[in-house]
Amino acid sequence: MSAADLAALIVERQPCVVLTGAGISTESGIPDFRSPTGIWAEVDPFEVASIQAFRRDPGRVWDFYRARICSLLEAKPNPGHLALAELERRGLVQAIVTQNIDTLHSRAGSRDVVEMHGSIRTAECPSCLWTEEAAVVLAQLEERPAPLCVHCGEILKPGVTLFGELLPPAAIERATDLSRGAALMLVVGSTLEVWPVAGLPLEARSLAVVNRGPTALDGRAELKIEGGAGDTLTAVLNSL
Ligand code: NAD
Repeated sequence: MSAADLAALIVERQPCVVLTGAGISTESGIPDFRSPTGIWAEVDPFEVASIQAFRRDPGRVWDFYRARICSLLEAKPNPGHLALAELERRGLVQAIVTQNIDTLHSRAGSRDVVEMHGSIRTAECPSCLWTEEAAVVLAQLEERPAPLCVHCGEILKPGVTLFGELLPPAAIERATDLSRGAALMLVVGSTLEVWPVAGLPLEARSLAVVNRGPTALDGRAELKIEGGAGDTLTAVLNSL
C-alpha cells in the first residue's frame, strides 16, 4: 500500500480521526517506550512514574519528570506532526487523539487535540485541583525537590497520567465520541497495546495504520503502511 492509496482513503472516508502514539515523536528525538532503546529500558516506570511512587517519594518522581519536561520542551515538531496539522487545516482531519504528553501536535499547529495521558504543559494539585504552568513548576524545582500548590501548599502532581491512575474522564468521553463518529481512524506510531486507547480504533467504521513494526490491530486494518511517520505523511500531503 502506498501513501497515495492512503491519501485517497482519507479523502473518501470523512470524517477522519487520527490516533497517535510515541512513534510519531521519535523523529523529534523523543524515544518511544517499548523499543530496546526506549525509556523503560533504562528506568523502572513503577519507581519513577507511578501514583504509588508519587505518594511514597514525590521528590523522586519529580526528579524524573523535571528532566523529562525539559527534554520534551526542547524537542520540535517534525514533518509528521506538521503534515497532520496541514491535513486538519485542509478539512481532512477532524481531530487528533494522542497518547503523547509532549504537546508537539499543538506546537505544530493542530487545533483539536485530545490528550489521553495529560501533558507536560501543567502540573495539578491533588487537593484543590489548581493547575500550574510548567514554567512555574520548573522554577520551583530549582529551590525544592517537589513543587507546591500556590493556593493550598499541597505537593503538585505532574499533569500526566501516572501508572496506576485512571485516564482523564473528559478525554475518554471525547475520544470515544470522535471514534464512534469516524468513517476512518488513522493510527500513526502506536503499538496499540495500551488500553483503553487501544480499543478506540474498534469503534470507528474503518482503520488505516502507519507504523514501523506490527500493531495489535494490523489484522483489522484496511490499509497498513510499514514506514516512518514523517516521510509517509508528507507523501500523503503531496499526493492530494
Ligand atoms: P509504543 O512505544 O508502544 O509504540 C510506538 C510504535 O511506533 C512502535 O511500534 C514503533 O516501532 C513505532 N515507531 C517508532 N518510530 C516510528 C516512526 N518514526 N514512524 C512510524 N512508526 C514508528 O508507543 P505507544 O503505543 O504510544 O505507547 C503508549 C505509551 O507511550 C503511552 O502511554 C504514551 O503516553 C507513552 N509515550 C509518550 C511519549 C511522548 O509523549 N512523545 C514518548 C514515549 C512514550
